[in-house]
Amino acid sequence: MIEKKYGSNTEILYKGADISECNMHPEAPPICPSTAYIMADMDEYDYVNSGNGGYFYSRTANPNRDSLSELISYLENGESSIICSSGMAAISTALLTFSNCGDHIVASSSIYGETIELFNDMLSRFGIEITYVDFSDIEAVKNAVRQNTRIIFTEIISNPLISVIDIEKIVDIAHRAGSLVIVDSTFTTPLVIKPLDFGVDIVIQSLTKFYNGHSDVTAGSVTSSAELCKKMYSSQLRLGCCLDPNSSWLALRGIRTMGLRVSKQIENAQLLAEALSNNRHVRKVNYPGLKSHPQHVLAERIFTKGYGAMISFCVEDSRDKVNAFMHELRLVKYLGTLGGYRTSIAHPATAFRFDFTQEELIKMGMSEGLIRISVGIEDIDDLIHDFTQALEVFNAR
Ligand code: PLP
Repeated sequence: MIEKKYGSNTEILYKGADISECNMHPEAPPICPSTAYIMADMDEYDYVNSGNGGYFYSRTANPNRDSLSELISYLENGESSIICSSGMAAISTALLTFSNCGDHIVASSSIYGETIELFNDMLSRFGIEITYVDFSDIEAVKNAVRQNTRIIFTEIISNPLISVIDIEKIVDIAHRAGSLVIVDSTFTTPLVIKPLDFGVDIVIQSLTKFYNGHSDVTAGSVTSSAELCKKMYSSQLRLGCCLDPNSSWLALRGIRTMGLRVSKQIENAQLLAEALSNNRHVRKVNYPGLKSHPQHVLAERIFTKGYGAMISFCVEDSRDKVNAFMHELRLVKYLGTLGGYRTSIAHPATAFRFDFTQEELIKMGMSEGLIRISVGIEDIDDLIHDFTQALEVFNAR
């Protein structure tokens, strides 16, 4: 007979061994889904809530999120990292922390579309003014800075034309003006560049992409000095955009193989870009690893490992033929994401068509024939063959 001290409804709540007290050393970290942690008394509460470590409430801190944060700080060479529920949550947390009514932001005109929408549809409502500039034109960036410019925001590799930003010059302009430099480094990963080493103040990653690499987690990170992170942590706490324990655990697992994955992706990207530039149906290839790329020398100087795994290329501006090309691809899929272990393509003109007119898109280089590739870890011969055979649709009249 099992001894029953309490009523069955109470027993249901308290029975079952407390596995956290078992003497075990699992090779894989456990997931800690608990939203709260038992405090022995008020002394323990005071100790934990005075920043001495330990856990009290999951939105405040969680062991899985902390493990992930420690690993990302290491990879980005930062003092501290905040782990958010998406890349956009990370961008919002950083921008909302450091911009106030009456401030001015200078942003690159070729950044992620939803970041532009955050600036245009939300920050502008709070009296924050934004100026967009082509960041490959350093003089234009310099001229856009005003007395009230608080933030300069850019990505290192622009989307979708894959141009490379001279981050050293941007940092110099910003710091002379007393502004913060915030960089979204999602396209590059710390294997290619660690922006904080160049004096960037805050680096953001959509962990959804190359970091996790398996297209099964939505997450983001912000890495910076301990001082700036402390301010952003307060915002995150109030915005409530922390990453949950399960996703934190999954992202940590994904990152364990990032070195292997991204090295192979970069290697494949170089070979695929070379193959595409020799294909008679391809009009132009945008990849910094090609000597023909306008910022090849700059990329060689600032990138530590290859030139990233993002390519874009132009074919005939025919919607029907581009659609036919997508159907002909046997391995590669059209996806609304990037950075996964399988190669995917995207069609920038379609993605941006609700925000810009046809003329504006063409002026921005986003013609109907522009295709963006996120290169995966397939055997390179298979990948080149898939693109080569599908490109034959451009032969058809
Ligand atoms: N930054 C860049 C460069 C992106 O491409 C994306 C998403 O595609 C984001 C940020 C937003 O990331 P998430 O989808 O994780 O919010």
